[in-house]
Amino acid sequence: MTLSYQTAHFLTSVPNYHLAPEDTGAEVAFAGRSNAGKSSALNSITAQKSLARTSKTPGRTQQLNFFALEPDRYRLVDLPGYGFAKVPQKMKQQWQTNMSEYLQYRQSLRGLILLMDSRLPLTEYDQQMLVWCHSAQLSTHILLTKSDKLKRGPAANALLNTKKKLLDLHPDASIQLFSSLKKTGVDEARQVISRWLR
Ligand code: GDP
Repeated sequence: MTLSYQTAHFLTSVPNYHLAPEDTGAEVAFAGRSNAGKSSALNSITAQKSLARTSKTPGRTQQLNFFALEPDRYRLVDLPGYGFAKVPQKMKQQWQTNMSEYLQYRQSLRGLILLMDSRLPLTEYDQQMLVWCHSAQLSTHILLTKSDKLKRGPAANALLNTKKKLLDLHPDASIQLFSSLKKTGVDEARQVISRWLR
């Protein structure tokens, strides 16, 4: 099967897991702290300029955004960004319920791409996501984003240190460096997604 990332197109936005499209076929979800570079990564992986921009329109930031690939039984899902300092407690709780339900119950979910800024990996919510993914036995692949902002040595250290800490959180998770700006690691990320969806 050859997946066509370039033909990815917006399907729908929903406020919670219960309103998601029919749970058939296979999908891979993207999660990360807001500003981690999730929209840029989705655009790089699908080789499109503004696919993930819809998720940025006001009111949609807390939504799950679904994109169809071809063949159209395959989907990419842009999960709500997290970690806004000023978000009210009620909204944080809603995010927690939304995410944990989606990760636990979504049958068509094959894996999670977790994005973390390579200069600031493993925030509290990142750790929470990893623990949920591990307990749901969900395949997880980490993109350490904006790697162009680090020199080679510090980038290698970030990779190694994060890998070590993963042993306690989600020992089966894989990890790589990624830069949307330089297109570093785009093929590697596509290979992981294609392997999961197959
Ligand atoms: P999101 O909130 O996780 O969707 O993050 P965005 O994709 O909107 O990116 C947040 C900010 O980081 C924007 O200013 C991007 O231009 C910047 N950014 C994203 N990816 C990269 C990258 O690979 N390298 C650099 N230098 N900046 C990036």
